[in-house]
Parts: sequence; structure tokens; C-alpha cells
Amino acid sequence: MKRTLWIALVLVSLQVFGGDKWYMGSGSTYRLVGISNAARHRETRHQLSLCFNAMRVQSLKFPEGTTITFRNGSTKDGFPVTYNNGNGDYTILVTCLETEFFMRIVFQASHEIGHVYIGQMHPGMSLQHREAFCGALSYWGLRYAETIWDHLKNYPKGTTDDYINETISELEHRYGKSSEEVLNMRISEMNHDTALFFGFLTAQQNDDMFTTMKKLGIEPTEKVSEPSRK
Ligand SMILES: [Zn+2]
Repeated sequence: MKRTLWIALVLVSLQVFGGDKWYMGSGSTYRLVGISNAARHRETRHQLSLCFNAMRVQSLKFPEGTTITFRNGSTKDGFPVTYNNGNGDYTILVTCLETEFFMRIVFQASHEIGHVYIGQMHPGMSLQHREAFCGALSYWGLRYAETIWDHLKNYPKGTTDDYINETISELEHRYGKSSEEVLNMRISEMNHDTALFFGFLTAQQNDDMFTTMKKLGIEPTEKVSEPSRK
């Protein structure tokens, strides 16, 4: 048997028989712990790996050896959060790991994984630009998820637009600002929440992540490829 095939089989069995480390195409490692419900474990891991792939599709890669530990949880105000434990080691809390709200997992995890990326690649970026970027990643994560779920049984189909529109209404309500108001603001005048909303809306209005980043005033570090839309 060819050596590459053996390597592929080893990688596949690592995922199926579950060491808690996964190896990504870019060579980075991420680790999943704190997911106790065995029945939903694989599905949750699927949603998380999908978020990483959504970033890869946009050519956003982590430095070698980045470790991300996911746990179910949130901060006092109920929001998901990312902790930098030092040396490329991060903990992400999201509120929905053991649920079947797959779109919510993708929304939250994509955003928080974005914080890890910026923490590693653009540590000097302003708070507003960070949030806007991560808000945009939530959008692109959902769009990427849609293309994958379309081909799989037992996953939501044709409802991504509904979820996106519901999310926008929820954000308008929560932050007390309409989409038009937010889109007309300057990013430097925004707080954390408005910037997140702005990033999400900007992504919705543009064709791809590269254009979105330019609109957000974020210079990508490397050439960003076209997202694959099947
Ligand atoms: Zn954030």
C-alpha cells in the first residue's frame, strides 16, 4: 500500500477512534475536550471542524502548533469567550456545544476561532476591527456550513438565510440599532457589540471574505483565495 494512503488511514482512524487531537491540513493541532455527551460528540466535532475549514477556505491559517480547547460555558454576561493561555494555547468557551443548534455552534465557534487567529497573526489590531473581523467570520462560517450540510443527511437545509435574518433582527433588538444605522457608522465610533454586528452585515453584503476584509479596513496577510461554493 502506498505510504500516503497509510498516512491518510492513520489520520482517519485518529478522528474516528478519537484521540482528542485533530490534525489540520495546515499542520496545526486543535484539541477538543469537555464534550461529555457521546451521542452528540461526533456531530459537535463535525461542526467545529467545519468552522476551521471555513477559515482554511479563506486562506486564514494558524501558526504551527496552535492548540484550542473547547468547553461548554460563557462569561457572566452570557457571551462566548476566548482565553489566551500563552504559547499558542487557547481555551474557547461557547454556550452550545452539547446542543443540536448547529448554526449557533458555527456562529459562536467561528467568531471565537477568529479571536485566536487575530491573537496569533494580528495582535495589534484594534478592538473594533477584531470584533468586526470575527463577526464576518461567523457569517462566512455559516455560508460554508450551508454548502457542506446540503450534502449530508440530518443537517439543516435551505434555512441558513432564515437563521441569518433572525440573527440580524436579534442583534438589532439587543443593541438597539438598525442595520442601516450600523452600516452608516464609522468603525472607530463603534463599541465591541456594534463592531461585531457591522462585520456580520458587511460580510452579508459582499461576495467573499477578501472583499469583506477590505471593506472592514483589514489588510489580509496573504493572498486570500475564492471561497468554494458548490
Ligand atoms: Zn468577539
